[in-house]
Amino acid sequence: STFSQLGVAKWLDESLAAMAIYKPSDIQQDCIPPILAGKDCIGGAKTGSGKTIAFAAPMLTQWSKDPYGICGLIITPTRELAIQIAEQFKAIGANMNVKVSVIVGGNDMIKQSLELEKRPHFVVATPGRLADHIKSSGEDTICGLRRVKFLVLDEADRLLSSSIAPDLATCMEVLPPANKRQTLLFTATITDAVRSLKDRSDNIYTREVP
Ligand code: AMP
Repeated sequence: STFSQLGVAKWLDESLAAMAIYKPSDIQQDCIPPILAGKDCIGGAKTGSGKTIAFAAPMLTQWSKDPYGICGLIITPTRELAIQIAEQFKAIGANMNVKVSVIVGGNDMIKQSLELEKRPHFVVATPGRLADHIKSSGEDTICGLRRVKFLVLDEADRLLSSSIAPDLATCMEVLPPANKRQTLLFTATITDAVRSLKDRSDNIYTREVP
């Protein structure tokens, strides 16, 4: 099938085609329809499977229907992954001027804080730096996060490591409750610990690792 047959917005179909992406990969085929239907999702997928577009395409589709506020927060374990995810959002959202902020360690805190205040459409963050903002930047910086529609936990199994988990918990505290957002988990292995990150048991689509 094609991306538009899965329910992806027409304008995205065109920007994906411009990147020579025509046919949804397995994870995209499986996860895009339930995400567009409003379900939470646990996707078993490795890097290279096309998992970024599996969450980016439905999130950008919903964003273009209702572009007000910060639509989505994507949390990923490393700075490099955050930059890569943001690049994919910018590339496929370019013709709609999608604004994406990268909130990672090593870059200027004050600059990031001002960027968050301007309400980007999507925020891609590592847990450590986002937790620093929550603890030390003002309410103006973080209040946009209180109403995100989508939370993505990318490489969710790695986010549970003991060095990262406390910062992840700090980030989760400012987000809307689980029944007021859509949570999308992507992980190489689906474990009970990963499942427990989702504090809502109904309405989940789970795609096991093939
Ligand atoms: P990811 O697994 O999200 O890190 O994606 C790996 C690479 O595959 C990225 O460079 C994507 O641009 C590319 N890609 C994602 N989906 C598709 C697809 N359906 N067809 C061809 N390439 C894709």
